[in-house]
Amino acid sequence: MKNIAVIGAGTMGNGIAHTFAQYGYKVSLIDISQESLDKGVATITKNLDRMVAREKISEQDKKNTLENITTFTNLEKGAEYSGLVVEAATENEKIKLELFKTLDEVCPEDTILATNTSSIPITKIAAVTKRPGQVIGMHFMNPVPVMKLVEVIRGYNTSDETTNTVLELSKKLDKVPTEVNDYPGFVANRILMPMINEAVETLYNNVAGVEEIDTVMKLGMAHPMGPLQLADFIGLDVCLSILEVMYDGFKNPKYAPCPLLVNMVRAGKLGVKSGEGFYDYSESRKAEKVSSQFTS
Ligand code: NAD
Repeated sequence: MKNIAVIGAGTMGNGIAHTFAQYGYKVSLIDISQESLDKGVATITKNLDRMVAREKISEQDKKNTLENITTFTNLEKGAEYSGLVVEAATENEKIKLELFKTLDEVCPEDTILATNTSSIPITKIAAVTKRPGQVIGMHFMNPVPVMKLVEVIRGYNTSDETTNTVLELSKKLDKVPTEVNDYPGFVANRILMPMINEAVETLYNNVAGVEEIDTVMKLGMAHPMGPLQLADFIGLDVCLSILEVMYDGFKNPKYAPCPLLVNMVRAGKLGVKSGEGFYDYSESRKAEKVSSQFTS
């Protein structure tokens, strides 16, 4: 289990690659887009620089971490020798099912196939492979190098052996793995997303403004960040797709996404990554300010 493939070099994929590489694993970082790979490696370098400046790691640790990462645009080449694949591609069921079908064909038969999906059922993903016992959810939190939790999600057929391997591996990354079962939203998003959706609904109903809603939750409930700012940070498109999966999975109107959230995603207001969401990140300093809160 020394070779890890990470699929997707976006917000989560680059953080997952960074973390494995920092702990000495050889990482193949795979993305269909060369631009995403370049951006991903630039983000990892910037985050390592910050860790060096804060004396959390040495220059040599930074160098070793970067040397442990190789980038690929070819899935087969990147994944063929991996003991574990962590898929962190776009939250889209069709993309993930196709990826897992291919991974099942190209990876050695003992490779564990994990997904970082926020909401797509692990059992459904596992069903397109011939190794459902070796398919599991490994749900890291953003930003991955900083956040301790890994939600480890057992699909219907996930074996004890696979689960134990992933629990142990997460501990080796200095994370705290928490085992949960495969129901819509798992635990983290089943609780978080209705809160974010309610905050958007509160704004939509004109009960209070963006900053007022966030202030109430920060100062009143001791949350480190208000729900609207958190939604911007997660990505409003990601929030919407998680709510849609939960709404569809439970057939319960309490998970119906607020029309304002739907409209903002349609208008391309996706939060930090698009430069605007509930807050304006168009000046680079503002975006920097938000992301640095998570890497301190
Ligand atoms: P993102 O949009 O930042 O990055 C997705 C990356 O996947 C892009 O670089 C894209 O080019 C790449 N990609 C798309 N299709 C691909 C394919 N077929 N092969 C290889 N690469 C492909 O997304 P993200 O926010 O990093 O989310 C990734 C996953 O992590 C999703 O499943 C999401 O639900 C989950 N997640 C996100 C967060 C969060 O806070 N953003 C938190 C936990 C989990």
